[in-house]
Amino acid sequence: MIDVVNLEKSFGKHKVLEDISFSVPKGKVIALIGPSGSGKSTLLRCINLLEMPDAGAITINGKTMDFGILSLRYRTTELAAFRAETGMVFQSFNLFPNMTVLENVMAGQRFVKGISKDQAELIARPLLAQVGMEGFAASMPQRLSGGQKQRVAIARALAMNPKVMLFDEATSALDPQRVAEILTIMRELAQAGMTQVVVTHEMSYARDVADIVMFMADGRVVESGPARQVIEDPQEERTKDFLKHFH
Ligand code: ATP
Ligand code: MG
Repeated sequence: MIDVVNLEKSFGKHKVLEDISFSVPKGKVIALIGPSGSGKSTLLRCINLLEMPDAGAITINGKTMDFGILSLRYRTTELAAFRAETGMVFQSFNLFPNMTVLENVMAGQRFVKGISKDQAELIARPLLAQVGMEGFAASMPQRLSGGQKQRVAIARALAMNPKVMLFDEATSALDPQRVAEILTIMRELAQAGMTQVVVTHEMSYARDVADIVMFMADGRVVESGPARQVIEDPQEERTKDFLKHFH
């Protein structure tokens, strides 16, 4: 469902992603783990084209984008359509502060997809219910707790009907109780068949919910495999060293 092949990204002379390849079948969850600076966020940003990869290819839902010199041929509309295949949730929520909760969830549909207000609301309200936020439709974001903001951010991403959800440390800014609520929503999404790429420092989540764990260091894939195997019986020294910090 998502295939990444030989992806490369540099900032100036600094090669941040080198020869990254992985594949996640539909409805499966891959957890990306690794030390700070290993390139996890950059990889997510490349998948949804917030950053343009320098080389390689990404296939989502049967549509392939080739990067490098070939990417010059893509039109803005093609890039936007590819971006819409993914929904992204950030550590810092990034809600629109001047819109209500409901308007936040409707915004992408209305302004990117051009769907009518009534239609957008029909899609948004059940999604707010799905994340337990139906009672807050008229609230402004600054009145919400971090966990509530993150639930709205998830509903907003889902409203665009993405084929793949990307989570970048979505629980890092939350206290433990709120972390559990967000992880439950992500678990429900997995059960409903949503393909997910999840950057996380929650090793128990990676072990118990992800199907695949990929450990990155210095912009490369060090080790990748079935989640439980990588977390409980890592093969590479660098993976073992990294996981020691979580015991
Ligand atoms: P963390 O766990 O701290 O979030 P990460 O694995 O997500 O780290 P990235 O944020 O992807 O790491 O960063 C990888 C490397 O790329 C780092 O060395 C970072 O400084 C560099 N980098 C990221 N974005 C840019 C940018 N826009 N310009 C220059 N360098 C960047
Ligand atoms: Mg990061």
